[in-house]
Amino acid sequence: MQKSKLQFKIQNLTELTLIETIQALKEKQFSEEELNKAYLDRISTLNPELNIFLEVKKNTRGIPAAIKDIIVTKGIRTTAGSKILSNFIPPYNATVIDRLLEHGISVIGKTNCDEFAMGSSGENSAYGPTKNPWDPTKVPGGTSSGSAASVAGDMCVFSLGTDTGGSIRQPASFCGVVGLKPSYGRVSRYGTIAMASSFDQIGPITKCVDDARMVLEWTSGGDSYDANCQKEKEKFTLQPSRLQVGLKGLKVGVPKEYFGKGLDKGVEKIIKEAILKLEELGAEVVEITLPHTEYGVAAYYILVPSEISSNYARFDGIRFGHARDQFGSEPKRRIMLGIFALSSGFYDDYFAKAAKVRTLIKQDFERVFEKVDVIVGPVSPTVAWNLGEKIDDPLKMYLSDAYTIPASLAGIPGLSIPCGFADNLPVGLQILGKHMNDELVLNVGEIYEQATDWHLKKPDLRFKI
Ligand code: GLN
Repeated sequence: MQKSKLQFKIQNLTELTLIETIQALKEKQFSEEELNKAYLDRISTLNPELNIFLEVKKNTRGIPAAIKDIIVTKGIRTTAGSKILSNFIPPYNATVIDRLLEHGISVIGKTNCDEFAMGSSGENSAYGPTKNPWDPTKVPGGTSSGSAASVAGDMCVFSLGTDTGGSIRQPASFCGVVGLKPSYGRVSRYGTIAMASSFDQIGPITKCVDDARMVLEWTSGGDSYDANCQKEKEKFTLQPSRLQVGLKGLKVGVPKEYFGKGLDKGVEKIIKEAILKLEELGAEVVEITLPHTEYGVAAYYILVPSEISSNYARFDGIRFGHARDQFGSEPKRRIMLGIFALSSGFYDDYFAKAAKVRTLIKQDFERVFEKVDVIVGPVSPTVAWNLGEKIDDPLKMYLSDAYTIPASLAGIPGLSIPCGFADNLPVGLQILGKHMNDELVLNVGEIYEQATDWHLKKPDLRFKI
């Protein structure tokens, strides 16, 4: 009998996508024990060098997923990358974890992240930086650093991250994997340790777009523990891919503000090639303008610290965790900034103004989405930078999120998919859609993905194996 393509691939069991893994398990091509052992072997070989996992579970069954260590897991230590929570064993699961367990997923480990998801490089973790599997001298991006790196290094079938201002999309881009920040309100935030509650979203990091669609389907939908989460799950049922029709009839907007002087030339070239590909696939590409983009970073760094200063009052050292002196410098900086921005006398000049800018940015998108179906551009102005390069310059670090922050301010969905390499490092294409139109974003991503093979490229991990 002829062997199927899947059977050939199974020699590299850890390279299978989620959908392939489910199929192979159904066909009993290997057992759950073999699957978990294969991943655990890879983790024990690679983790000492890359510092991706903070906690690894032995003897797991089911399909192994890696979970950002800011999402609480019952009985499994959850630190949020902070010394404050170094002894915190949550007594409950986040909603997303319960939903994954219902689908036969197991938590193989908890992944390293910037402390309380504040940062862009993974270097703010109190447990040392994660390294990029493509080049261990580079950052993996942040703050879902370990979650993106674990997928890139085939150390899990998929992972979950969180995105407040780019923390799923940017590390996915730096690590050459797929990352989806769902629409705000699509996935319950219950059980994710909050950074800024009006921004935070949990989302999948996967080996292909179809997997991201499946994880979104599993994890999204109303939750009585998160009042902002959409109740009507059915209303947003994901559409099957429109692969047959390609991108004919689709209008793609390219914001000129995302191609300014901050954009690295190598990245620009790759993104422009990806846009040409979309045109080749039948899309109509038009230039658009999102005029308030330039104020995004400034507004974000008023609003987010303001929410942080309120949210972080819970870390009082009494109920759980250690004393407040265990906060690292980035949380301290943000708590102080937020208290300042909210204090009487400064509130109108800072918080109220930033909130108005947020509305203007939202309106920029709404106006544009009357004319186009999706927006595409770079995820990040650069590829992964050197470890240590920006750590002493918070402002430089903040500015690196200029292209991901606007979508976070507007609460719209954003996908990062691999679209090429610059300086031998992965580049991600960002696809943005209307609020709650995550399925279109995923479909466009999948059509692009199937017409190229960037998502199949793997880092050469011979430095260790
Ligand atoms: N880099 C941004 C910040 O530091 C975004 C982080 C995130 O999305 N969690 O806030």
